[in-house]
Amino acid sequence: MNIRFDAVPPLDPKVAAFVGGKHAMLIGSAWLPAASGQSLDVIDPSNGRVIAQVPAGDRADVDLAVKAARTAIDGPWSKMVPAERAKLIWKLADLIDANVDMLATLNSYESGKPIGDSRNGEVPFTAETFRYYAGWVTKINGETMTINAPGDWHAYTRREPVGVVGQIIPWNFPLSMLAWKVAPALAAGCTIVLKPAEQTPLGALYFGKLVQDAGFPEGVVNILTGFGETVGAAMAAHPDIDKVAFTGSTEVGRLIARAATGNLKKVSLELGGKAPTIVLGDADIDMAVAGASSAAFFNAGQSCGAGTRFFVHKKIYDKVMSGIAERAEALKLGAGLDPATELGPVVSQQQMERITRLISEGRNDGAEIVTGGARAGDVGYFVKPTVISRTRPDMSVIREEIFGPVACAMPFDDEDLDRLAKDANDTEYGLAASIWTNNLGAVHRLAAKIKSGTVWVNCHNFNDVTMPFGGFKQSGWGRELGEQALQLYTETKTVAIRLP
Ligand code: NAP
Ligand code: MG
Repeated sequence: MNIRFDAVPPLDPKVAAFVGGKHAMLIGSAWLPAASGQSLDVIDPSNGRVIAQVPAGDRADVDLAVKAARTAIDGPWSKMVPAERAKLIWKLADLIDANVDMLATLNSYESGKPIGDSRNGEVPFTAETFRYYAGWVTKINGETMTINAPGDWHAYTRREPVGVVGQIIPWNFPLSMLAWKVAPALAAGCTIVLKPAEQTPLGALYFGKLVQDAGFPEGVVNILTGFGETVGAAMAAHPDIDKVAFTGSTEVGRLIARAATGNLKKVSLELGGKAPTIVLGDADIDMAVAGASSAAFFNAGQSCGAGTRFFVHKKIYDKVMSGIAERAEALKLGAGLDPATELGPVVSQQQMERITRLISEGRNDGAEIVTGGARAGDVGYFVKPTVISRTRPDMSVIREEIFGPVACAMPFDDEDLDRLAKDANDTEYGLAASIWTNNLGAVHRLAAKIKSGTVWVNCHNFNDVTMPFGGFKQSGWGRELGEQALQLYTETKTVAIRLP
């Protein structure tokens, strides 16, 4: 398996100037270094080289950003009528579209994902998310209640912004994770302190420039770069942050929930997954092979909804497995910025080591490595797309979130749906699942039995801004996207009036 290194076009001068410039954090209207003067390296995962340095903030910077966000919510932002706020959010969406080349390049440079996925997928989706929530701003209303008690009453509810929110996001979809959090919070009238992942701060910092260009009042959006253990932990524990929203590992989700108990801030969590991908005996094999491969390999498997536990009917198991292996072997590996790349590197050395360790554990546990099974090359953080067969439910490849281009499969031999659902549900996670079949009865029965926030049928990793997304069980608290995300960022106030 060859990795192409020679086909990365030179960076556009405007992008090169931004990447090579001095980076600072957006606090209020100012671009500031970390109070401590510390910085952290941003790395190109296709070759391990340092491409930029950004401030490594800490608690002191969080304090400043929270003050700016508090001043903004007590000031101009809350006085702005909804239609004006909607216009600003819409303008921000237009600026994201207008800067698609810059944002897509930054996104792929720092995360390693294929440039086509950034340019044609993630960046447009980011703009669309802001536009969708711009539409909601003018439609966030309370209700009136008809009161049972005797007498004359008027009672109603107001939906008010929850306040200053801390948002901590991961590196796997740096821009769409930003949009899923920032857009509904702005729509609800909150102010924001955002921390991008240490691996992917550049896109978020450029987004900060667009927020200013759109004309948002200062302090509405603040962006802090730095490590989770410092900036992230200080946000989760901060006494003047009203709500923290997080996407990332279940382990860190637990730390955040614990840190939030000090002031009992509201918490929403979008955590890990271990999505079952169930291929029934009647499935269209070509469609299932293409869909299952993409479920496992899209974004190098670095997706919380990635299909990782394949349950395939015995009568088509060999065909499906060889089809997925064939597709895996045909994928073109390369840097994210090479337009021909289909599978980029994983984001970091740490992730590469974690993925290859889990694959080795699978091998040692007796699973069969059909293809792949190791690091690819010795430069950058590439992992060969891997297909693992004959797995058992107790193996770590089946229990742990791998977050790499690895499909693990096991056959089943009858279509007892209760049994299938039980096996599919045999995980601490409950984020997503997919079912591949044309049997309508089986679809609806299984969809009801599977314990996960999303069930896809004859598709996988399909997200639309209108569809709520989030986890059952240890995959999280709350739902992002759709109307439901507004609930994460609003408080309901009841006003009851006895009429004199
Ligand atoms: P992670 O540590 O959970 O990172 C997610 C975000 O949380 C980052 O911004 C991170 O900052 C921050 N963070 C880390 N420790 C924190 C703390 N104590 N308090 C507050 N914030 C904190 O994830 P990771 O280490 O990058 O990846 C590890 C595993 O997590 C992956 O293998 C995968 O299984 C899972 N993961 C899941 C998702 C998802 O979409 N559900 C996304 C990414 C990773 P830093 O950038 O400084 O770490
Ligand atoms: Mg981490």
